[in-house]
Amino acid sequence: MKSDIEISRDADLMHITELANNLGLKQEHCEPYGHYKAKVSLDSIEDLKDRPDGRMVLVTATTPTPFGEGKTVNTIAITMGLNTIGKNAISCIRQPSMGPVFGIKGGAAGGGYAQVVPMEDFNLHLTGDIHAISSAHNLGSAALDTRIFHEEREGYEAFEKRTGLKALRIDPKRITWRRVVDHNDRALRHITVGEQTPGTPKNMNGVPRTEGFDITVGSELMAILALATSLKDMRERFGKVIMAYNHDGEPVTAEDLQVAGSMAVIMKEALKPTLMQNLEGGASFVHAGPFANIAHGNSSIVADKIALKLGDYVVTEAGFGSDMGYEKYCNIKVRAGGKSPDVVAIVCSLRGLKSHSGDFQVVAGRDLDPGMIDPNLPALEKGVANLHFHINNVKKYGVPAVVTINRFPQDTQEELDWLMAKAKELGAEGVAISEGFIHGGEGCMNVAKEIDRVCNEKKAYFNYLYNVEDDISTKLNELATKGYGGNKVVISELAQKQIADLEAKGYGNLPVCMAKTQLSVSHDPALKGEPTDFDVPVREVRLSAGAGFVYALCGTIMTMPGLGSKPGYMKIDLDDDGNIMNLS
Ligand code: ADP
Ligand code: MG
Repeated sequence: MKSDIEISRDADLMHITELANNLGLKQEHCEPYGHYKAKVSLDSIEDLKDRPDGRMVLVTATTPTPFGEGKTVNTIAITMGLNTIGKNAISCIRQPSMGPVFGIKGGAAGGGYAQVVPMEDFNLHLTGDIHAISSAHNLGSAALDTRIFHEEREGYEAFEKRTGLKALRIDPKRITWRRVVDHNDRALRHITVGEQTPGTPKNMNGVPRTEGFDITVGSELMAILALATSLKDMRERFGKVIMAYNHDGEPVTAEDLQVAGSMAVIMKEALKPTLMQNLEGGASFVHAGPFANIAHGNSSIVADKIALKLGDYVVTEAGFGSDMGYEKYCNIKVRAGGKSPDVVAIVCSLRGLKSHSGDFQVVAGRDLDPGMIDPNLPALEKGVANLHFHINNVKKYGVPAVVTINRFPQDTQEELDWLMAKAKELGAEGVAISEGFIHGGEGCMNVAKEIDRVCNEKKAYFNYLYNVEDDISTKLNELATKGYGGNKVVISELAQKQIADLEAKGYGNLPVCMAKTQLSVSHDPALKGEPTDFDVPVREVRLSAGAGFVYALCGTIMTMPGLGSKPGYMKIDLDDDGNIMNLS
């Protein structure tokens, strides 16, 4: 079989304006960036408002190995499969981060014959949204350090007199706005800014302070891009972003720094979703970013809004397992105005479930143990507990689940049949095998039919997991117990103080965005399957007032990933004709 990049390069693509036309988008709402991608104007939302909404199919997965279990492949394949059975389906997916593209995991355009194309464009800069976020975000940081520098150098009173501005009296020890870059770069996790250049006057480089970088997709601005319902809403949310606290402990916002407007200007084009095509000529909106572990990891509300008007079905991917992206979709994105799912596809693979047997060590960047690839029913029988968790978890929100078994080349029919029967026994409303990776839409027709059948037969009665009016500790405990199946949440002393402070300031009634490992339902990557009898430790709580959630850090999760010893960038290159090689 050809490699992903060969399949993408050999594809016969249509001009993006033709696709927009086929979709029923007005030409004036399609802004091409080159031949194969276009920004779609938000004016289209108003234009299409009288049309009915299509159904929302959310694609999630069992707890993944570091290699992924095939959510993106199947998001695209299910879209193609629905189109093959005569429905009109569109996918809404996220733009990949360059961290994983050049790290271990590779790109996120799908794979095999279920890809969004051209995959090079998709996996690299696309239409520049992530660069815009880095730029807007870091302008905020520059504004912050500049303000501290000028106020401290002159003294608050002199500063006020000279500039006519009110001194913000920012406490350099209470800066909450870290810088961002879209690479995995662990050396930037904890740094000092404003270091003095030897032989120059004191503080010429600003006020020295400790600082750190997060990966751009974890930026609050990325969360806002996904949750904003209009340009006005995005601008207002930017104003509410808290960047620091002053010496009295009062928040200092981007509006206080008078930088929110410029940040919105940088991000103006980024709020328009990008339209691309899949290998079978279907449409895909690409918007917002991944990382459902440290961010909410869902694509944007505006892309969904447009797609829902244009298709009978919108198929969207929520990051990692259902305890991660799906939970955040339901508790954060739906509350912000997203459509609740009508049906959920839970993607799983034999190898992924076998990894939950506890019999194997799975290390990113190393080959999988043959025991996970070869027939091994005992391991599958043990590991299937993880699927049990995710079927139950999906149903907690009142949404029916269709288990989508992603077939890999080495999988035996015997094990696949066993898993089909088991998934039904565990309570899935539907189950089917996907061969979308090798056969595209044809290979995913069975899944598409199951999804359509379940949607027709079973109405979703959506409910949230927790009451947003409850106090923050209660919500965290609800997530730990009802959400993950743990005994209780254990909140560190630091986090308890932070929670008390947030509640005193009136931020207690926001949903919670939990940052935790994606490799276990719990906070501990070593706990496989369907863990029980564990406590969930919350070490720190931050506020994302612009995005509209409280951000809780759980266990040892890092907001800036690192690279392994053999990252993907070692293989990626250009050939003599300028073609990109080995991007996957
Ligand atoms: P996720 O979105 O769940 O992280 P992806 O869909 O990106 O996972 O798939 C992870 C990797 O596995 C990709 O490189 C993809 O091409 C590959 N892959 C997925 N499904 C299959 C399959 N059925 N056969 C072979 N490779 C696959
Ligand atoms: Mg994916």
